[in-house]
Amino acid sequence: MINQVKGTHDVLDLTLHNFIIEQARIHMQHAYFTEITTPILESIDLFKRTLGTETDVISKEMFVIEQHPNSSERICLRPEATAPTTRAFLQHGIQQQPWKVFSHGPMFRYERPQKGRYRQFNQFNIEVINAGSIAHDTQMIAMLERFFSERLKLVNYVLFINFLGCSADRAEYKKTLQSFLADNIASICPTCTQRATTNSMRVFDCKNSTCQKLYLNAPFIADHLCQDCISDWQQLKEQLTILSISYAYNPLLVRGLDYYNKTVFEFSSTDLGAQNAFCGGGRYELAQQCGALQPVPSLGAAFGTERLALMLESIVDSLTIKPKPTLHVIIPLSEKQQTLALFCADLLQRHNFCTETLLDNKSVKNMMNKAHKMGATYVFLLGDDEQEKKMVTIKNMLTGKQDTIAQADIISYLKK
Ligand code: AMP
Repeated sequence: MINQVKGTHDVLDLTLHNFIIEQARIHMQHAYFTEITTPILESIDLFKRTLGTETDVISKEMFVIEQHPNSSERICLRPEATAPTTRAFLQHGIQQQPWKVFSHGPMFRYERPQKGRYRQFNQFNIEVINAGSIAHDTQMIAMLERFFSERLKLVNYVLFINFLGCSADRAEYKKTLQSFLADNIASICPTCTQRATTNSMRVFDCKNSTCQKLYLNAPFIADHLCQDCISDWQQLKEQLTILSISYAYNPLLVRGLDYYNKTVFEFSSTDLGAQNAFCGGGRYELAQQCGALQPVPSLGAAFGTERLALMLESIVDSLTIKPKPTLHVIIPLSEKQQTLALFCADLLQRHNFCTETLLDNKSVKNMMNKAHKMGATYVFLLGDDEQEKKMVTIKNMLTGKQDTIAQADIISYLKK
């Protein structure tokens, strides 16, 4: 038997996933966003230029497509959607300001698989491109908060925020951080030792408990901001408070990718185990790496549908998931009635009645049991007698009531 590829997964019932996407779609449309889609295949260079060559995604997680030797294109499966959305914004010369869009689909990262962490997973992605005011950050965070708490009815989660300053702040701050790391180099793990010089702020992502304890005493970027950033950071916190959005300042939150600027945030739940973040985002500046002449201040967020579905499993009964449509089951009592059964099913389906036909030619008792297990509301019995008289016997499985009516009257009978 050939099994699924490591790190991928089959979803055998998409009800919860579809619920999440449908609710998110409604929510985003209420906030004046437009749905877009970008390809799964993108140029490797797009991500190399935007995500930072020292990030995990670039250094070890890319799924690169092996191509024909004559092809000069270097293509990969997209690991995220922010860079592709920015590419699309520039490529199509979008003038709208801000450009508020969302998309969803599969992403690919060669990570070590575990619960809630896959190599192919689905993300819902939101971007507000060309939006300088920090009030957009508040708006995005508030919109997500309301989505999780009101539409998905999640309770067990925390919103963490941090402020990474502008690039000048970070350049200055990195010197202070690197000096702190140099002073403590003997106490940190080998990965942090390496990151201390190549990508120093990423040390805060380390899961090693000794490192984590040490970093609680590290200098934090939010205490090393320029005047403009201090005022933006202040405004963000004040606006969140006025909108009654609970948050926790997490100075260790730096997020994995290089393009973040100023605001970063993450929604995290203890219900999820080690992979506890289910949504993350922040402000970024990456248009120039994609070829823009001017900076295009932007912000975005993404949540994984697999992790949200895991969280929703335990509260599924409290959600307003559309009930399955009433099921009608047609039972031909012998092979002779199969064509007539197909004809009736076609008629019902064309009138939007959910209909299944049992074509296995088993005993009546067996087929009635099957219809019952399937949750049928109406069962249509077609035997020799019915066929001859152009009638059908309809049994209401909820009340037990049975009627025999003319085949020509089926639709009007059901509509009554
Ligand atoms: P990121 O693009 O890394 O900021 O991730 C945003 C969200 O996507 C996370 O909060 C998760 O919900 C989801 N996600 C990221 N990586 C994975 C993965 N390997 N497997 C499943 N979900 C993921």
